[in-house]
Amino acid sequence: MLLDTQTNLLTDQKVNPFFNTESKYIYEEYLQKAIQSVSGFLDNPQFYSGELPEKLRSKEQLIKADPTKMLSIDDTLAQIKELYLDHAISFHHPDYVAHLNCPVLLPALIGDLIASSVNTAVETWDQSTSATLIEQEMIRWTCSEIGLPSISDGVFTSGGTQSNFMALLMARDHHAFKHYGLNLKENGWSDVVSKFRFFCSEKAHFSIKKNAALLGMGYDSVISIATDDRMKMKPEALVQAIEKEKQSGNIPIAVVATAGTTDFGSFDPLTTIAKVAKEYDIWFHVDGAYGGGYIVTETHKHLLNGIADADSVTIDFHKTMFQPVCSSAFLVRDTKHFKYVSYYADYLNPLEHRDEECPNLIEKSIQTTRRFDALKLWFTLKMTGAKTIGSFLEKVHYLALDLYHSIKDDPYFEIAHKPELSTLVFRYKASGIKEDTIHDTINLYIKNTLFKSGQASVASTKLHGNIYLKFTLLNPKSTIDDVLNIIKMIKETASNYKNYN
Ligand SMILES: *Cc1c(COP(=O)(O)O)cnc(C)c1O
Repeated sequence: MLLDTQTNLLTDQKVNPFFNTESKYIYEEYLQKAIQSVSGFLDNPQFYSGELPEKLRSKEQLIKADPTKMLSIDDTLAQIKELYLDHAISFHHPDYVAHLNCPVLLPALIGDLIASSVNTAVETWDQSTSATLIEQEMIRWTCSEIGLPSISDGVFTSGGTQSNFMALLMARDHHAFKHYGLNLKENGWSDVVSKFRFFCSEKAHFSIKKNAALLGMGYDSVISIATDDRMKMKPEALVQAIEKEKQSGNIPIAVVATAGTTDFGSFDPLTTIAKVAKEYDIWFHVDGAYGGGYIVTETHKHLLNGIADADSVTIDFHKTMFQPVCSSAFLVRDTKHFKYVSYYADYLNPLEHRDEECPNLIEKSIQTTRRFDALKLWFTLKMTGAKTIGSFLEKVHYLALDLYHSIKDDPYFEIAHKPELSTLVFRYKASGIKEDTIHDTINLYIKNTLFKSGQASVASTKLHGNIYLKFTLLNPKSTIDDVLNIIKMIKETASNYKNYN
């Protein structure tokens, strides 16, 4: 019986499928072939083939994994080309201006490849050794760029959503401990927590509300603060809201300021908000998922003035440091606050074996098994350098500004804001039409038609209940001509709409 199984294995698997000493040359051969496939992806002429969803769904034979039939590397790569690489969305393409997806840097890809192959898990020292030191150094570097004190610390996370989750959790548990002597981590819910309130601007990322709900506190624990005409939180409205909540018996515990809102790239007035947080003795979190990266620029870092006063910070390297997903960090002003998430497991990191020389990063994370995502940033800082990244970020801001100046007097467009970062929100306005609902329909038609045809990917969002288009410019290699070409496509598409309706 045993022999039979082994024979089957040998015939089915002609090659050793594991990454190990014996497969060294197969690994090299596979990677070379895989690299060629991926290079082929770079030859795709459009950002998207425009393949219809039903056509993609009809490739079910390719999508399905047949457990009885094993394919060669060549056949599998051929399948993935037909199924995915020919139709994947190219974030590096100048006609892709939809979401906060950056083109990625080659050094970062090398870091990711190494991290995936070696497969280090950074939760304990005995699984990671110097990888732990590299992650800690990337955290230390980021904290120091931001200007946090030497007792600050941080951990890599899966993204801004998870970092914001950690911020709200820490703010809540810290407040409960400091003011009510409650240990929520050990003892769970207490009624007073139902009165806890977070404050953020109405333009803050949805993950603030979503995380409050995940924490069992509900959307209603998040109070939205009005923004001014530049989409920045109004500090006087913040103070009024805090006072109002207090009067109605609720307990303000934290304010979240956004450094670079997702839609408008606007910065809340961090210095003023920091003062308000201090006055009311509440947690000050800065969500810099998008704008945090601008700390490495010379020309724009002033936008982040006040961030050094934060109790905690979210920063997404996979947005504005040109890293592949995931690469993100949660930073905290005082390392001792990680006690709100730490757990000592007998089999992994028993408290009695705690050793400062050989730290276990699991004590700072809400994940257990965790990728070595810091390595790609390390490669990037070594090979590309923070200064160059800063110049890329300056470039995409100036590109957004150029676009703004190019279309601001165009009667066909209504612009929502002057870009502070690298997004531009605007809408097409067909002449002679007053009804917003018709403008909504035309703008959605433009967005959908451009995407379906593979011509361009533009995002949409809502402002005052109306549909607007959004360009998110994160590609330093794009030129104003590239971007104006999309504007031209928008106008052509809109005029086709008129012709058909
Ligand atoms: C993108 C974004 C997030 C969420 O980050 P993910 O990495 O997508 O989880 C949070 N806050 C802001 C301001 C963002 O722009």
